[in-house]
Amino acid sequence: MSNPTTRANPNPNPNSHGYEHLSHWFEQLAPLGPPRPALERSRDADVCIVGGGFTGLWTAYELKRADPSLDVVVLEAEIAGFGASGRNGGWVLGELAGSPERWAARSGRDATVALGRAIADTVAEVGHVVEREGIGCDFVRGGTLQVAQTPLQLERVRAVVDHDRAWGMGPQDSVLLGAQDAAGRVAVDGVLGARYFAHCARVQPAALARGLAEAVERSGVVIHEHTPVSRIEPGAAYPSGSIVRSRFIVRATEGYTARLAGLKRALLPMNSSMIVTEPLGESAWSELRWDGCETLHDGHHRYVYLQRTADGRIAIGGRGNPYRYSSASDREGPLPRQTIDALKARLVRLFPSLDGVAVGGAWHGVLGVPRDWSPVVGLDRSTGLAWAGGYVGEGVAAANLAGRTLCDLLLGRDTELARLPWVGRPARGWEPEPLRFLGVHSVNALLAAADRREDASGRPAVTARLARIISGRDF
Ligand SMILES: Cc1cc2nc3c(=O)[nH]c(=O)nc-3n(C[C@H](O)[C@H](O)[C@H](O)COP(=O)(O)OP(=O)(O)OC[C@H]3O[C@@H](n4cnc5c(N)ncnc54)[C@H](O)[C@@H]3O)c2cc1C
Repeated sequence: MSNPTTRANPNPNPNSHGYEHLSHWFEQLAPLGPPRPALERSRDADVCIVGGGFTGLWTAYELKRADPSLDVVVLEAEIAGFGASGRNGGWVLGELAGSPERWAARSGRDATVALGRAIADTVAEVGHVVEREGIGCDFVRGGTLQVAQTPLQLERVRAVVDHDRAWGMGPQDSVLLGAQDAAGRVAVDGVLGARYFAHCARVQPAALARGLAEAVERSGVVIHEHTPVSRIEPGAAYPSGSIVRSRFIVRATEGYTARLAGLKRALLPMNSSMIVTEPLGESAWSELRWDGCETLHDGHHRYVYLQRTADGRIAIGGRGNPYRYSSASDREGPLPRQTIDALKARLVRLFPSLDGVAVGGAWHGVLGVPRDWSPVVGLDRSTGLAWAGGYVGEGVAAANLAGRTLCDLLLGRDTELARLPWVGRPARGWEPEPLRFLGVHSVNALLAAADRREDASGRPAVTARLARIISGRDF
């Protein structure tokens, strides 16, 4: 792609509706077939799922495996994988957002350790399904690295590993790598050490989402695309011109939840932006190493996340404009040049030899953030309404765990999953505007200032602590 900000489509496919240009991942899948038929008439279902991303699709998949006689329907506003699921960094990460201390304060230490183990094991679970269903999505279980390029970052990385140990992770799960070992894996400039966490896989996310949708269909679930739902009520979901009546309605709309009636302040739609390089040559790869396909993030407060893609590129993501006023999520829109340049600069900070490499694609997406920065899975038995999301940018594996958990809850099974501490947690809403907008943007500015200050001084910046206090998040 010559100009990643414009995303002009040289060969428009009349059936694609431009979806091929949602992300580099979708471009790899081009040409897409025509969208699945929209729902045209009212109907009944045993379970109606609103949203065809990972949360909705995993829930449908698990329900049908558990009980093939169930009539399950998925209603998707655009196409399966359209949202964050088809645009993310492709980290299948075995960790949940929210600090263990916070989970333990609510639910106790044992439940918190069980939750940590459940999400860590989810990486292998996703791998099993990928294999069983023959989903070609470049799944490689190489773990993840948090690299330190300054002594201060190294101190933090060491603290993260100690923290892992304190919360049930052993040396086979999480280790501190010294400078040589870290550089032996990936030749990050000036790397002083890294945390290696074993429970992570690299994946092509749109290929996983689209392949999962096909597996779900094969199992007998009906997916209606181009079927936006305007309202959810106990016993009914309302796409335009029709009604789906169902004992259970599952809300699986994560970053788009604010668009549904009555849910404006439930989950904050947070933007995240990504670029991908043009394919790197063999000599560049032999210099960078990265043979294990570990996912990687740096040690800044406003960190960037990277993967080595199967087609020989580096995909890197981070925050651009984090939030739009009044929880608006712009539909597509090009990524501003400034964001592309900032992500490229962060790539070069990690790998100076890539200074001259061209950017081959740029896109963004929206993820869901709850006010207490911890995800939730819920079912209100009295109304039949269910929901999951708020993964704070760590939703690829978490959506699988949520789908399995929702399956148990909907089928009334009293299982370990159904008792995990993220189930049925009360969630409080976000502040009204303009507080929400001011809060998010000031936290973002404080963290950016903290990174600049720490890079310059090598000492912890007080602004990072201030950001923690304002946001209520343990960064
Ligand atoms: C740029 C970016 C990078 C990320 N990187 C990672 C990563 O590397 N690892 C990780 O774990 N997580 C990552 N995340 C987060 C992760 O992608 C999400 O948490 C996860 O995909 C959420 O899945 P979901 O199905 O809940 O939501 P989505 O994938 O957003 O799906 C929601 C679906 O609901 C549909 N929908 C919305 N409203 C309606 C309606 N009213 N009616 C019908 N349908 C509707 C949407 O069209 C969409 O398809 C990233 C997110 C972004 C944006």
